[in-house]
Amino acid sequence: MESELIKSDFDLTSFNTLALPSRAQYFCKAIDQETLMQALLFAKHRGLAISIVASGSNVVLPEKISGLVINPGMQGIVRKGNRLRVAAGVLWDHLVRESIYTSGLFGLENLSGIPGTVGAAPIQNIGAYGIEVADRFKALSAIDLRTLEQHRFDTDTCQFGYRSSIFKKALTDQFIIIEVELALGSQPVPCLDYVELEQQVGPQKLQDYPRAIRDAVLQLRQQKLPDPRHRPNVGSFFKNPVISVSEYDALVAELGSIPGHSEGDTWKVSAAWLIDQLDFKGHRVGGAQVSNQHALVIENVGGASFSDILTLTREVQTAVQENYRIALEPEPVFFNPSRQI
Ligand SMILES: Cc1cc2nc3c(=O)[nH]c(=O)nc-3n(C[C@H](O)[C@H](O)[C@H](O)COP(=O)(O)OP(=O)(O)OC[C@H]3O[C@@H](n4cnc5c(N)ncnc54)[C@H](O)[C@@H]3O)c2cc1C
Repeated sequence: MESELIKSDFDLTSFNTLALPSRAQYFCKAIDQETLMQALLFAKHRGLAISIVASGSNVVLPEKISGLVINPGMQGIVRKGNRLRVAAGVLWDHLVRESIYTSGLFGLENLSGIPGTVGAAPIQNIGAYGIEVADRFKALSAIDLRTLEQHRFDTDTCQFGYRSSIFKKALTDQFIIIEVELALGSQPVPCLDYVELEQQVGPQKLQDYPRAIRDAVLQLRQQKLPDPRHRPNVGSFFKNPVISVSEYDALVAELGSIPGHSEGDTWKVSAAWLIDQLDFKGHRVGGAQVSNQHALVIENVGGASFSDILTLTREVQTAVQENYRIALEPEPVFFNPSRQI
């Protein structure tokens, strides 16, 4: 069945930044809420599973996805005082730029340059350079994929954590986010907790900080991370593991120093350092390779499949577990291959 709205056997290779070959049984780009409701009804009447792929910068897609894949394309930014209500399909970095240059609102500058859409930002509570979306979050609207009813979630109900929210836990795959509301500031409050960012920004007049921070963050990101357009990847592939002080102390006593930072009664350890210590840079399974540039990044260096990425992921996890007794958790969402056609 093919229509203006719903495409069948749709190629998703250019809809994921790992450039994995993947085909959706059905696909719909939901450019507004009306299109979205029509697509949801299409799936409901046929008993089809619904998956969401936005910019595909944090997913590992299998070769085939059964059911309907929805690509949220809703656009629009509405300002009310210091708050912005932003449609799910707006690109995150477009929002950051607009907030600084058009709205004159501040607080998102440290999150410059993160790929993806606004609707996906709360899913893993995106973060960088000392700020997470939860720090600027007010509420979101989402549609329950089972009942098609609209719900509002505030900060508490989203249960934000480190690269986590309720949408990656109890409510996995149950809601489609259609709008996010952020609370920003009319006066800059620079966050320069990262020494390298502080050095890059240098001293500024208060009003100049947001633009200077944005420029510096964009530059640092460009220097550090391989560009998915040339080296297909999903950014950091593993979360930095959080371990107890006693586990950390035991490892340091055994192995010497381990980079990380203390967070109350836990330590957040550098996953990149652990992987690098085990000489994984350049290690390859099929077309999947641990980046030579950054140990935390897995690249598709040509012809990688879902199973290449999965095997490499497991090899890294096993080696880190055996050598450091630390469980590494992947950051991107692996789509369930059992949903394959
Ligand atoms: C080069 C590079 C650098 C990156 N740097 C960072 C970084 O610094 N910090 C960081 O946190 N992340 C980073 N990421 C990861 C990624 O950019 C974010 O996770 C982003 O929010 C994903 O957005 P997306 O639109 O691509 O979502 P997708 O990858 O399409 O989807 C991700 C997940 O969210 C779900 N989803 C997407 N949209 C919706 C919606 N509207 N409603 C419900 N569910 C939805 C999908 O089903 C999937 O489970 C980076 C990625 C790359 C490639």
